[in-house]
Amino acid sequence: MNRDFLTIVAELNSANKVLVVGHIMPDGDDISSVLSVTLGLKKLGKEVFAGIDWRIPWYFYEFEETNIIKTFDDIKSSGFVPDVVLVVDASSPDRIGRFQEFLGSVPLMVIDHHGTNTLFGNINWVDTKFGSTAQMVYRLNTELGVEYDERLATINLMGIATDTGFFRYSNADEIVFSDATKLVFLGGKVYLVSRLFENKRIEQFKLLSTMIEHLKMEANGKIVYSYLSKEDYETNNCTEDDSGGFVGELRSIQGTELAIFFSEYENSEVHISFRSKDWFDCSKLAVLLGGGGHPRAAGCTLKGDLFVIVEQVIREAKTMFAAQNKEIEKIGR
Ligand code: 5GP
Ligand code: MN
Ligand code: MN
Repeated sequence: MNRDFLTIVAELNSANKVLVVGHIMPDGDDISSVLSVTLGLKKLGKEVFAGIDWRIPWYFYEFEETNIIKTFDDIKSSGFVPDVVLVVDASSPDRIGRFQEFLGSVPLMVIDHHGTNTLFGNINWVDTKFGSTAQMVYRLNTELGVEYDERLATINLMGIATDTGFFRYSNADEIVFSDATKLVFLGGKVYLVSRLFENKRIEQFKLLSTMIEHLKMEANGKIVYSYLSKEDYETNNCTEDDSGGFVGELRSIQGTELAIFFSEYENSEVHISFRSKDWFDCSKLAVLLGGGGHPRAAGCTLKGDLFVIVEQVIREAKTMFAAQNKEIEKIGR
């Protein structure tokens, strides 16, 4: 068995107070991983705080357990001093926001599946063979002897489902299906997980239509991109949380290899999501722009004017797209 995994198990076994931290702009895998490990450690009688330094999108409160995740300010003012910090699904320290303050003073353990992970913990269990961090957390809980009930199994399953596009993406391999099967066997309910996606506000459909109005194509339709400005969100009575999944809609267009979605939120900050279909390595483009992720799904955040950022990023994307395309043709794929 992996040495780092075993070291994390040993550390958690001997710790009494644990701070579990997820990443900013949390997604389903992150929330699932934070909640699953927190609920697991609580079952073992540990004192656990769970924190994410970002507003949690409203639809995750479909799972009432999400309420146990605290803000940075709440945890700071509680005076909680953890024995260890456990970070899940985050590839670099900037991804945990202000929780970086805790680093250095207590042992830091990282559990993640991103190839772009900078190994910023004292112990790093990073393995790209997993489609989701939630699967790693499932192994951790099992090794720690956590007993699964229906709620924990459903929450843990949620992370596997969301990071694999509900078992549709190229990362939905046999380990994903076998882990999901085990969690269903332990009481996990797929229909409860799908409520996350089947609970849309009508405003989100209007927002989608605005995004479609802004759609543009490059490289003969192989690159498709669109954007939503802060104003677009406001006029549609939405926030950036309401555009989850939009980049997937762009990728679903026939002939698209690379989809890019620009989402502007406060203070001219723009989050950019990259998705590819078959061969383009999005993580390389994201890393070039200061972000990270996986080959088929990556992202970054840039500061500045939305339209200047769109122009710059599309220029970089076209250049890298042409270069990677050449490589692919050379190796005859
Ligand atoms: P999304 O486009 O859904 O925000 O993110 C897609 C993938 O890229 C996720 O695996 C996410 O963790 C990663 N990612 C998104 N934004 C950033 C970022 O700013 N920095 C890093 N390191 N990874 C990111
Ligand atoms: Mn994530
Ligand atoms: Mn993940």
